[in-house]
Amino acid sequence: MADVISFDIYLLGLRDPSPAGRTRFASAFERLTGHSTEESLELLRRPSAPLFQRLSSDQARTTVNALDDAGVCIEVRPNTEMPPAEEGSLATQECPRCGFVQPTTDPECARCGLVFAKWEREQVQRMQREARLEEAVTKAIQVRREWDDRAKGYLESHPLDKDATVLFAQALGQEEIPFLLLRSDEGPLLLTSRRFLTQREEGTLSFPFELVADVDIGGKLVQKKDKVRLQLTFEVPIELGEKVSKSLAWQLDKESSFSANVIMDWAFARRFICGSCGAKDLDFRSEGKQIHARCMHCATDHEIDVVEALAVPVVQE
Ligand SMILES: [Zn+2]
Ligand SMILES: [Zn+2]
Repeated sequence: MADVISFDIYLLGLRDPSPAGRTRFASAFERLTGHSTEESLELLRRPSAPLFQRLSSDQARTTVNALDDAGVCIEVRPNTEMPPAEEGSLATQECPRCGFVQPTTDPECARCGLVFAKWEREQVQRMQREARLEEAVTKAIQVRREWDDRAKGYLESHPLDKDATVLFAQALGQEEIPFLLLRSDEGPLLLTSRRFLTQREEGTLSFPFELVADVDIGGKLVQKKDKVRLQLTFEVPIELGEKVSKSLAWQLDKESSFSANVIMDWAFARRFICGSCGAKDLDFRSEGKQIHARCMHCATDHEIDVVEALAVPVVQE
């Protein structure tokens, strides 16, 4: 038996044979073929002739759906002849890149070479990526607001001395909320809604909570009298003035050491969100001064903006 390679469509009747039903049929047929209403209605008088012949499977599917919507009862019969090379109005498509009109059966554009199936696949992927990105940005903004609220809440019960931020006035961002000042032998350490800011002999240093991998307060090391040692360990070596270091220590005064639980809370609870899929599972690495973070879930790479405390996805085209 020969392979079925095209389809013929025969008219069986109209579900609604009234004048209104006949008009629906005529306008559907007109849209599909460009024939006039008169010619279309003429077909109703000779049902033995096929409405369509040698349609490709795609054309047949489109046509069947259109006729079914118009209330037309039809029969589809297989045909072993090739669909004709010269296509009617139904069977053409416009290239989405260059606008060239050509048969739908062509897998790629005859003028610019665009592969249609691949283009459609990429469109779908791009739309999915954009939806995910939008969702992740919304999530990141929401998380940032939650931490802003938390900082404000803390300030309500622990007001911050105005003078506390004077030293850091230059470094503070506009929407950043400073909420806790710690004092140490090495210099002041300010916690804001985004990051740690500290002044030491190396200069004013800054790092987002998200880059803190570990906090050690008190520790096993020998304590100085009336001091408590705080050591922060980072996910990657961080630029600290002239040098680069994976950890930093302070000798806090007694009063500052009472805030140990706040330091732990802020350093441990915060994680960067993947800008592509929203996962909080980034793997950090540094390249010179730039810190990168790759999502362990979807492999999207990010650049870390240390001042803004943001993971910015690197979008590849
Ligand atoms: Zn084209
Ligand atoms: Zn991801």
